[in-house]
Amino acid sequence: MLPFKLVYSDDYYLPIGTHVFPAEKYRRIHNRLIEVNTAEADDFLTPHPASDQDILLVHTPEYVKKLKTGTLSAREELEMEVPFSADLVRAFWLAAGGSILAADHALKDGVAFNIGGGFHHAFADHGEGFCMINDVAVAIRRMQRDEKISRAMTVDCDVHHGNGTAAIFAGTRIPSGPLPSRYGSAASPLRPPKMRSAHAGEVFTISLHQENNYPAYKPPSSIDVDLPDEIGDEDYLGWLDNALGSGLRQFDPDLICYVAGADPYREDQLGGLSLTMEGLKKRDELVFRVAKTRGIPVMVTFAGGYARVVDDTVRIHCNTVIAAAETFGGK
Ligand SMILES: [Zn+2]
Repeated sequence: MLPFKLVYSDDYYLPIGTHVFPAEKYRRIHNRLIEVNTAEADDFLTPHPASDQDILLVHTPEYVKKLKTGTLSAREELEMEVPFSADLVRAFWLAAGGSILAADHALKDGVAFNIGGGFHHAFADHGEGFCMINDVAVAIRRMQRDEKISRAMTVDCDVHHGNGTAAIFAGTRIPSGPLPSRYGSAASPLRPPKMRSAHAGEVFTISLHQENNYPAYKPPSSIDVDLPDEIGDEDYLGWLDNALGSGLRQFDPDLICYVAGADPYREDQLGGLSLTMEGLKKRDELVFRVAKTRGIPVMVTFAGGYARVVDDTVRIHCNTVIAAAETFGGK
């Protein structure tokens, strides 16, 4: 029995046909966690769909109406990069409900997972890059509305910039120079990464991502770490450590929302970083260790993962659960 909950539903499957996004990964993660004896059936919680009221805490009434009535323009559907259907709308409402449930349990148990979600390219008024609804933003706003938290931090380690999340929580940007970093002169022959910093309101957003990748325009997060192509484990972990340290010196969150994308993996079809599977697990351990040390609850979502072999993506996501189990006790 795990010392935390995993929120999952078979209905997380996204009905998008043949697509680079492996929509079956959620079911495979669920099954594998049980097969390898990491989790038991009782560790899982079944989510309910978010209410429209929850979705409207983040998304505009115009956008929600278009989704509910199937009246997106052709351009809007194209930008979302997944084929619109009423079933797809239901799957995204359910993913948002899952993140709300996971956030709630993270506050009780110190950590909780949504075995789904992490749709960080969804903006308040439109969807992009396989993302219709920003489930993480919805969960944060719902926890705030229920006065369970006042301040949250997103730690987005998907290989792609968290543009929707950054825009939704955009604070007042205060220009600042590069942050001091003991990794700034890393021995890597690659161009050093850039770290940009902006001030945040009640939600502090951190994004570590490949600079030379989607989205072309990256609205400022509170901290953006623009990583060069093909950065490896050691440099990546150094920059993550640096960003977490810097963020937590500036901001004291009641909840961390960790967006644990599997796509910084070196075998990813849509990513250009060079992390190994072991490096990705160390990444997870670092986030969990920092949160545990400071007593900050963590809600985890899975976001992207497009490894050439789908099983690699499944393993990387399962490893995130194993890293949490190792950090927070239990098996
Ligand atoms: Zn991604």
